[in-house]
Amino acid sequence: MSLYCENVSLNALAEEFGTPLYVYSQAALTAAYENYASAFDGLSPLLCYAVKANGNLSILRHFAGLGCGFDIVSGGELARVLAAGGRADQTIFSGVGKSRAEMMYALEAGIKCFNVESLPELGQLNAAAAECGIVAPVSLRINPDVDAQTHPYISTGLKANKFGIAMEDAEAAYYHAATLPHLRITGIDCHIGSQLTNLSPLVEACGRLLDLADRLAAQGIELEHIDLGGGVGIVYHDETVPDLSAYAQAVRHLLGNRALSLILEPGRSLVGNAGLLLTRVERVKRNGDKYFVVVDAAMNDLMRPALYQAYHHIDNTNPQPGNTFTADVVGPVCETGDFLAQNRRIAAQTGDLLVIRSAGAYAASMASNYNTRPRAAEVLVNGSEFRLIRPREQITEMLERELACL
Ligand SMILES: *Cc1c(COP(=O)(O)O)cnc(C)c1O
Repeated sequence: MSLYCENVSLNALAEEFGTPLYVYSQAALTAAYENYASAFDGLSPLLCYAVKANGNLSILRHFAGLGCGFDIVSGGELARVLAAGGRADQTIFSGVGKSRAEMMYALEAGIKCFNVESLPELGQLNAAAAECGIVAPVSLRINPDVDAQTHPYISTGLKANKFGIAMEDAEAAYYHAATLPHLRITGIDCHIGSQLTNLSPLVEACGRLLDLADRLAAQGIELEHIDLGGGVGIVYHDETVPDLSAYAQAVRHLLGNRALSLILEPGRSLVGNAGLLLTRVERVKRNGDKYFVVVDAAMNDLMRPALYQAYHHIDNTNPQPGNTFTADVVGPVCETGDFLAQNRRIAAQTGDLLVIRSAGAYAASMASNYNTRPRAAEVLVNGSEFRLIRPREQITEMLERELACL
């Protein structure tokens, strides 16, 4: 079996660049973006790609070229967006822990909006803006207290989560913001979780935010935009995922003729299924009656299985008949949690090239150097062409960053 990304053979890429190797399809990135744009047609949403899903500069540049804005959660991500040619005035800054230095950097860059997550942050942003002599555009991230029905580690819209301002405190927070001279209230936002497989929590959150926007308008606080966050799930295994047209239709209906522009912050659903991870089988080992396929990718390259027990589909590019068994697919890292699949039917032998699917989001961007493993290379395929968009990290580069004192 020969497997391809667009018109490029995965075996050829593995030969040329080695493994583990991330491979992305430019056509799939474009299609995912267009899918949002066409579903929400007529509402002319500003799509702000959530950089943390995959911040590779070439991917950001590609999205910027399509007219996409960006959702960032750190100063580092703002630097990435600007380096990739993204527009500051289409960039919004989310997150509970913005530092003063990050606020100043984003103010000077002229970002579109700060998504503020608490009362103390409002005061601190006002002070930073005063010091810069700039008025900061702000939206308040409201926690609509809906259950996103996803994995607890990626559920963010419940009262018990650290994110956002509780709905019952929201109006008071807006009134307070309105008294701060270096802030300009522009919007309202939420983000209730990630990998949502059900539309109703998203729609419910939208309704609750709009009710709040109406109450604010009645008190003289007119908002310019509503930002519904990201979170639409993708197919990793056998999930059914929300239909974007149905989502758009529900939002269109709820918005009615309010003069609010729409912002969305999709991350996973723009890149997740546009990427895969290639890994080579080192050996197959057996402990008692349990089989392990030991591969050269590990939890430091792809953390999702270890972190969320996430499922990733795995194909062998050249499965040998009669060689199929049930095994855990594991990496070389010294952790029992270092697995890429558990109890999986798989055909594998030493030297086989495996394809780990749906590895475009929260994969390379979560990679680490644990066990002094250099980070994997990344390749972007476009038709029959391909470019190395991140060279494999060298061990010498890693060691250069450290000092052997004493
Ligand atoms: C992570 C995140 C997103 C993107 O979530 P996806 O599930 O990848 O679409 C959007 N907004 C905020 C505030 C986030 O933290």
